Amino acid sequence: MQIQEAELLISAPGKEQWPDTPYPEIVLAGRSNVGKSSLINALCGRKKLAYVGNTPGKTRLLNFFLLNRKLVFVDVPGYGYANISKQQLLRFGEMMEDYFHERKQKKALLLIVDGRHKPTDDDVTMLEFARYFELPIIIAATKMDKVKASQRQKQLKLISETLALSEEDHLIPCSSANKEGMDRLWEVILHYAQI
Ligand code: GDP
Repeated sequence: MQIQEAELLISAPGKEQWPDTPYPEIVLAGRSNVGKSSLINALCGRKKLAYVGNTPGKTRLLNFFLLNRKLVFVDVPGYGYANISKQQLLRFGEMMEDYFHERKQKKALLLIVDGRHKPTDDDVTMLEFARYFELPIIIAATKMDKVKASQRQKQLKLISETLALSEEDHLIPCSSANKEGMDRLWEVILHYAQI
């Protein structure tokens, strides 16, 4: 999809601040530094819609981006910081549970993983969360420009097996650097957003 208009509606610390919008929402999550901001920017054809290099201090907010006045990306703070406090972890869990449990507009989880690595336990937990709430699952294996052609299939298999992906889930190899996979990602996003 060509993005003509992209606007940050709000960075919401809690459900009281969620925007009162009717648009379908795609939730984008991934561990910190996985390349989520870069992917959001690549999908939207923007250089700095989402801030690349988010700091741990910004980890408590859900960012709601309205695209072309018809679709919302919900940018979940990157997880997996080693030195996060128990209280912060609890807060993150509550925030996600509130969202998955209460937000009617949600249409799919787009989980971003690093194409070079085995997904983490935190990735598996996030996926289980989405499965529990019966949210369709799209996996973007990003940074594929860094994976040798000879290693590609092996890496994708590792990701698929670690996340126990099923037939209905989508695993899409991509790269924000060379834009691989962007059309396929949009195709699947728009399918679930039903727009
Ligand atoms: P975030 O913390 O998940 O939002 O990750 P960022 O988007 O800030 O990216 C983290 C680092 O990975 C940055 O140095 C990016 O330039 C780099 N990066 C992100 N996506 C890609 C990609 O597709 N290919 C390559 N080679 N580097 C990437």
